Order: sequence, then structure tokens, then C-alpha cells
Amino acid sequence: MAPSSDERYEPPESFVEQANVSDPGIYDEFEENWPDCWERTADLLDWDEQYDQVLDESDAPFYEWFPGGRLNASYNCIDRHIEAGQKSHAALKWEGKRRETRTYTYQDLYGEVNELAAALRDLGVEEDDVVTIYLPMIPELPIAMLACARIGAPHSVVFAGFSADALATRMKSADSEYLVTCDGYYRRGNAFNQKSKADNALMGLDRQVTTVVVDRLGRDLDHSLDDDQYDYEELLLTHAGTTVSPVARDAEDMLFLMYTSGTTGQPKGVIHSTGGYLAYAAWTSRAVLDLKPEDTYWCSADIGWITGHSYTVYGPLALGTTTLLYEGTPDYPDRSRLWEIVERNAVDVFYTAPTAIRAFMKWGQEYPADYDLSSLRLLGTVGEPINPRAWKWYYKHIGGEDCPIVDTWWQTETGGMMVSTLPGIGTMKPGSAGPPLPGIGARVVSEDGAPIDPGERGYLVADRPWPGMFRTLYGNDGRYREEYWEPFSEGDDWVYFSGDGATIDYEGYITVLGRVDDVINVSGHRLGTMEIESAIVGVPGVAEAAVVGGQHETNGTAIYAYVSTDHSRDPDETLRERIVESVEDAIGPFARPEAVVFTPELPKTRSGKIMRRLLENIANREPLGDTSTLRNPEVVGEIEAAGRDD
Ligand code: ATP
Ligand code: MG
Repeated sequence: MAPSSDERYEPPESFVEQANVSDPGIYDEFEENWPDCWERTADLLDWDEQYDQVLDESDAPFYEWFPGGRLNASYNCIDRHIEAGQKSHAALKWEGKRRETRTYTYQDLYGEVNELAAALRDLGVEEDDVVTIYLPMIPELPIAMLACARIGAPHSVVFAGFSADALATRMKSADSEYLVTCDGYYRRGNAFNQKSKADNALMGLDRQVTTVVVDRLGRDLDHSLDDDQYDYEELLLTHAGTTVSPVARDAEDMLFLMYTSGTTGQPKGVIHSTGGYLAYAAWTSRAVLDLKPEDTYWCSADIGWITGHSYTVYGPLALGTTTLLYEGTPDYPDRSRLWEIVERNAVDVFYTAPTAIRAFMKWGQEYPADYDLSSLRLLGTVGEPINPRAWKWYYKHIGGEDCPIVDTWWQTETGGMMVSTLPGIGTMKPGSAGPPLPGIGARVVSEDGAPIDPGERGYLVADRPWPGMFRTLYGNDGRYREEYWEPFSEGDDWVYFSGDGATIDYEGYITVLGRVDDVINVSGHRLGTMEIESAIVGVPGVAEAAVVGGQHETNGTAIYAYVSTDHSRDPDETLRERIVESVEDAIGPFARPEAVVFTPELPKTRSGKIMRRLLENIANREPLGDTSTLRNPEVVGEIEAAGRDD
């Protein structure tokens, strides 16, 4: 019943030979030596002061990792590589929307991070002040993060596409009095005013905010800046050549806070530490993404999400890798854009999301086929379950059938990857993320916390802490305990609850089914949306599907399926019948969709996740509520219209 396929793929010999981790003994090494095994992650960093202990559990679930240790994240991501002779090595490669390119060596990065750090300090930023960063994918975004880290000021990056309201809510929630933003940026070739959004947000705040404005559009900013607003370039000029010694932070001090993407209710300010987080981001970048200093690595996620924090900025830079930053979208100016970037930069490792892979599939294989992608050694995916068909497409048409794929399950809260195969060791099973990473206590359990049988559906939990874990929710220790720890903990046995449902197979491979609240109850049957969707997406011609529960006169709840087709197929009656049959075959006639609504696109959050909540409102003809986190609000009208035709 699980959506993973029975097929197995082995990593190619050529990959295994060069892999950072290729000894299967690593799992036992971690188990036998837990929690001291985590020293190996801390050893990837340079510490100003050695920690006293690996793990302090005395105040669980408020764990402390590497207590007593002191370090600076910016030093670890920049200075130490320069000291090791890597100053001319590329740290950051940027591909702009208008085909501009910029390369920062580690020395360049050092210069600009220091100048900005000095400027922020002069503007009044002190250690522990939260600096909000509201920038698109331009080099100034990671530079601002690292400048904050250098002076011990936690950053809170707010995705640039968010509205003024969303920015104001997050700044207020984080008590933030400093903002780094820009004048604007290009969206599909048109200039778009970011600063007026930021100004609107600031108007709604009852506090003085000092703002730094990056000039992305290359126009004269002088006239639009208020007294407490400063031009980024001017600040760099007045601080040219200034260096700031990196502040030694306590391992447990906050490195940043990050609001979750908001597919479920109110955004939460997730807090990550300096020591454990950085160690874990570096370790998983090394073990799972197989990153090496000489690699050019590209994670296509926006830095406004946790994936960009851990796997565009902190992990890769801590390892001295070249990390690529792309400002644009995959289909502008055309659908070859990503593959052209991979070819030109000879990208070694590429990490993206299933939503992107499904879009590539929908567009067709001819786009990647036109480019030389042979530089690729490893592919990764994160963010949603990937159905076997999309997995195989990625494997064949992007990886050329000789790159392993790591399907990495993790969350904003976990800070880094938790479940995945290790690419130099593990057999891959399309659709299944894999076993827990070494030392990670990910388990699939029943409602009462007992392990479930292979094939049964259960709850994905972690029965041990790990260094990259979040420390609490900003200003809300209570919610941290209640939402994440109380559901499955008993006495002093603290168990982290992910909120996701999963199955596990005889070999310990975990298949994530999606959120447990994404369940439809039809005539007493509890059906996971993921499983039904997987049956639909398996029908040739279907690109994407989302199912939700809607009110039905006789059955109570009925299943509504929203489906988009790929380039090979126009929606018609035959396809509709095939979809219904496929669900009946895979799950049973009781799961038969009441309606199949074809739509050119599904509504998605800005991080690319399908907004089922909204489709549920549409199916039930209810008011839509907050749509500010939607990336493609225009599809809502189209779906409503299509639904009425049925
Ligand atoms: P919010 O918590 O605000 O609703 P969110 O959960 O979408 O937002 P993230 O932390 O970015 O925010 O996403 C984590 C979730 O993404 C996981 O809980 C899981 O549901 C899904 N996910 C991530 N990676 C995978 C994967 N490899 N396979 C299946 N699902 C995944
Ligand atoms: Mg979540």
C-alpha cells in the first residue's frame, strides 16, 4: 500500500569510490558511542573554547549541545578557509535574473562581511539583537546573515515574496528593530518595488526601525531614504577595509530564528543554536550531500526557507565549498535556464524539491536533454514526498542514470536532514526516503508510541535528541513542549513528534506520507491524502494531484481530486476515468474520488508546497481565508470555475 515502489537502485561504483562516507559500519559506530558519536560533527568546526560536555539532558526537552563551547559561525564559514590558504577559492557564485553573474572568493566574502558587520555595529546592533533580513536571492542576503553571525546578532530572514503584513508580523513577533532590505528586484523582467512593501510593514510597527537598503535595481536611492534608512553601498564605502573580530558565541546562543513556512496555521519562530546547528549542518552536508571543497554545489531553494539556511549558506560554506545562488525562476526566460546554469558552472551536486521535479517532468525531457549535465555527481530532493515516477524521471533525465539520489526528510525544526540514504552506502528505493541517518532516533510508532509493523501507517517521531534540533519557539517554551514533545513522551522519555505520518518497511526504510492532519475520513475510513495522490499521479499524463475532503449530501465526506496534466496530455473524460480506476485499484472503491477537477496548476505556498487547506475551502465552497502565503493566487479563480463546471 505504501507509495514507494519495489524497485531498488544501487549507487554507482564510481560514486562509492570517492564518497565522503562509504563504510556501512558508520551506523554501528554512532549507536555504540551515543551521544559521544556527535563529537565527530563538532570536530568539523573550529572552536574558540572547547565544550565541557557533548549533551546536557538535565532540563529535557530543553537540551543543550556542546555546552561550555564557544565559537563563531562566520569565522567557521569564512576566516578559517582563508587561513588554510583558500582565499582565492570561490565561495559564492551568483546567477542573476538578468543573466548577470558575480563570483565572490572567500577573500571577497571576508571583506564584504566584515565591512557590513562593522556598519551594523555602528548603526547600533549589539550582540543578541535580532536583525530581520528581507532580501531576494542576491549575494547580499548570505552576506548579511554572515555579518550578523560575526557580531553575534541573530538573524531572522523573511522570504522576500512575503507581504508587508507578513513581514510586520514576523518583526513584531521577534522584537526586531533592524531591517536589511532592498529597493526592489526583477520579477519576470519587470522591476518590482520591495522597499515600498518594507516601508508599509514598518508603518504598522510601533517602534523605531533602522533600515539598510541594498540597491538591487541600480537606480539612485538617495531621495527615497528616510533618516533612519541607510544605503548599503554607502555603508560599505564608509567602512571600507574595516575588519571586526568574530564574537565568540556560546554553543547554545541563538544563531538565527526562522519562521516555518505556514502550511499549517500560525507561523512559529523556530530557534536554532550556534554550535549544534552549525555542526549538524556541516556534518549532513558532508555525509549526505557528499560535499567537498572543490565542488560547485547548487541548492535551488530560496534562502528564505530553512533549506537555504542549512544547505546553501551554513553547511556548504562551513566545508569551504563553492555554493551557487540563483535569483530567478526555472522557466524564465525559458525552461532551459537551470540546465544552462548547471552546464556553464559544471555543477557537481544539485538539491531541489519534488514540486520543481514535477514541473520539469511536465515541461518535458527535451529541455535538460539539450545540455551537458555530465558534471553532476549527486542529486537531492527535499520538501515533500516524491512519487516513484518523479524520482525515476529525475534519476534518468537529470542524473543520466549514474547519480545517486538522496531523498532527505527533515523540517525547519530539525535544522538538518534526519532520514535519508547515505549516497555512498545505501540502496535507494524510489519513493522512500530511507533509514534514519546515523545516530538519529527517527521511528515510526502507533498512537500509543509502540513501534508499528512494517507496512502499517504510523507517526514519525524521534526518540533521541540530535545536535541540529531547534531549542524552542521564540518566546513560547510552552508551545514547544506541548506541540512537539508532549504527544509521545512518557515520564522522562522525551520523544519528538514531527507531525508527519509514515510507514516503515522490513529493512527500516521510512516512507513519509505527509502531515497526519492531511487525512480524509470517508465513511469511517481514514485515508491519507498522500496515498490517494500517489495513485493519481501514477496515471500517465498526470503531472500533479491534490485530494481533499469535501462535504457530500449522502456520504458525509467525499474525496475531491484536483489534477493538472503534463505536456503530453489534455484533460478529457478518458483520463478522468483512468484516474478514478487507478484510485479504486490502489486503495479500494470506497476511496473513489467524487469529483476530479482539472486545473492548469495547483495552489502552492511560496516554498512550493500544495495548499490543501485552500482546496478544502474551495471544495466546501467556504471563504478562502488568508492567501498571503500563496505563490500563484490567480489559480484559485480558475479552480473555482473548473469546479463549478463539473
Ligand atoms: P509549517 O510547519 O508552518 O506548516 P512546513 O512544515 O511546510 O510548514 P517545513 O519545515 O519547511 O515547513 O517543511 C517540513 C515538512 O516538509 C515535513 O514535516 C514534511 O511534511 C515535508 N517533507 C520534507 N522533506 C520531505 C521528504 N523528503 N519526504 C516527504 N516529506 C518531506
Ligand atoms: Mg512543519
